[in-house]
Amino acid sequence: MPVVNSIADAADQLREWRQDFHRHPELGYEEHRTAEIIANRLREMGFDGVETGIGGTGVVGTLHGRSGPGDEARSIMLRADMDALPIHELNDGPYKSTTDGKMHACGHDGHVTMLLGAAQHMARTRTFDGTVHFCFQPAEEGGAGAKAMIDDGLFDRFPCRSVYGMHNWPGQPVGSFHCRSGPIMAASDEFRINLKGRGGHAAKPDACLDPVPCGAAIVQALQTVVARRTNPLSPAVVTVTTFQAGDAYNVIPETAHLGGTVRSFNSALHNDIYDQIERLVRQIAAAHEIEAEFERSAKFYPETVNDEDATAFCLDVARDLAGADNVHDDVEPTMGSEDFSFYALEKPCCFILIGNGDTAGLHHPRYDFDDRNNVWGASYWSALAERALPSQ
Ligand SMILES: [Zn+2]
Ligand SMILES: [Zn+2]
Repeated sequence: MPVVNSIADAADQLREWRQDFHRHPELGYEEHRTAEIIANRLREMGFDGVETGIGGTGVVGTLHGRSGPGDEARSIMLRADMDALPIHELNDGPYKSTTDGKMHACGHDGHVTMLLGAAQHMARTRTFDGTVHFCFQPAEEGGAGAKAMIDDGLFDRFPCRSVYGMHNWPGQPVGSFHCRSGPIMAASDEFRINLKGRGGHAAKPDACLDPVPCGAAIVQALQTVVARRTNPLSPAVVTVTTFQAGDAYNVIPETAHLGGTVRSFNSALHNDIYDQIERLVRQIAAAHEIEAEFERSAKFYPETVNDEDATAFCLDVARDLAGADNVHDDVEPTMGSEDFSFYALEKPCCFILIGNGDTAGLHHPRYDFDDRNNVWGASYWSALAERALPSQ
């Protein structure tokens, strides 16, 4: 089965919707305009229920098939994320971001549009038996909007047996699908290290306790955590991304501040890595007579693990849609992370990647979502739902 014809007929409309979202990016938990447009469209489409303000700015539209509502076993959830990034867009063109410093650089404008395209088609046809919840989630980019929606009672209010997600993927052909069973995206969080010494004149180091060489020693030592202290067969990343100290060439600063991120595919390993980091920080600081504070951020995203059966099902749907040659079940896991993982802790889930062609990478100021995917993605969502909840 190629793309759904009635969705292909709506391609111009979907492109307009997508480019309008692109023009008006909103950061995590500020997606008020986006959420309002989504809710209004779902109501216009004749949805059976539209609820807003879930987990902040989240929206869930509920659609029943021809034979009425399904119970939890005959209900599924499809999820799109809505937020943009604090990036200054470098693309020019008619639908460039109108808000300086904000940009849809991860394609969530497209994710929303693909799900709306499916919503429109399915509200017209209703060729399924049960209930589909269309979940539009805030704050994927570091704000854990998925967790906020779950904490706000998502699965009590919208019972379902499984949840499905999709992300566009630059570097792979448009209309191709990429997935794998098991871990597909890494666990991720952040750490911060505050060092306090004794500042003073740059020419009198002996009268000071300099936090800069202590910080440099910590940066070097953290490179050994993955290289020397974790199993080489278990992927992990420790990256120091910030190091701030001092303002003047002739002053030894009183303090230094470092920060970074840890990625892995295993929560136990993740905790071990943090133990290693903290031990190194404390002992190196002690050796330099520097006071150290170590903070692990509460913003933890678990690893995203695809359920085996849900993945096999989604790959079948994609193969029917795009042809077996365009569907790959062995995509390499990425050290990027996704808060879709929070749904996967609760329900059988599958997170699939859809090729976005030869665009700049995700989070790049010249990135753009490929509008042909509006049709491919909406067709995938519709085919998935109709097959998961077949009409009797
Ligand atoms: Zn992103
Ligand atoms: Zn994203």
